[in-house]
Amino acid sequence: MKLTIIGYWGGFPATDGATSSYLLEKGDFSLLIDVGSGSLSKLQKYKQVSELDAVIVSHYHHDHVADIGVLQYAKLIHYYVTGNDAVLPIYGHKEDVNGFQSLAHSYTKGIAYDPSESLIIGPFSISFLKTSHPVSCYGFRITDGESVIVYTADTSYKEEWEAFSKDADLLITDCNYYAGQDGSKAGHMNSVEAGKIAAQASVKSLVLSHLPQYGNQEQLIAEAKEQFDGQVLLAKEGVVWEA
Ligand SMILES: [Zn+2]
Ligand SMILES: [Zn+2]
Repeated sequence: MKLTIIGYWGGFPATDGATSSYLLEKGDFSLLIDVGSGSLSKLQKYKQVSELDAVIVSHYHHDHVADIGVLQYAKLIHYYVTGNDAVLPIYGHKEDVNGFQSLAHSYTKGIAYDPSESLIIGPFSISFLKTSHPVSCYGFRITDGESVIVYTADTSYKEEWEAFSKDADLLITDCNYYAGQDGSKAGHMNSVEAGKIAAQASVKSLVLSHLPQYGNQEQLIAEAKEQFDGQVLLAKEGVVWEA
């Protein structure tokens, strides 16, 4: 599997950035995970919209779905220009009726995932964990049968993450806050909580994402490393992880 970070800011994109979005590839199959603000522009540095095979979204907060609408326009314009009428499946949960309906458009269709079952999308098998967040949101455990990526999406700390992330090759966590800041009401984690999950789950690598626009982000790494002695990276656009 090859994962490319497209967007990683929490809440809103900093200058010339994008909020949550990750491109996951295996062979010639491309899955886009979340479609945050600014992500469609950034994505096209790495992959054309017409080359996407599927999209999956964790929840319907703007910083995760803001560019779904323009992605749908891109598909429509691509049809006008090339005649390519391929319909792009966008997987989302159904617990937000308006959010789910917004996934359907001329050349996209919404497909509901059932979080109680694992879901096959192309070469990937995905299982779900409901996160602790003000709206319904799901984290993903994704495997191609060889390696495992866990993406927490938006969540405050809860112990279930440790079993859900067990032995993952790559763990991408919400790290919206610095050590000592309490994200539980907002539904986000801090660097210490991210590091703790990585340590308890014995993951190989930890990527801190959904990052704050203030402070010294290097401090997040140092704080997470006090909990976890494996590899800790800050999310950055264009960073590629491959296994
Ligand atoms: Zn959210
Ligand atoms: Zn978010």
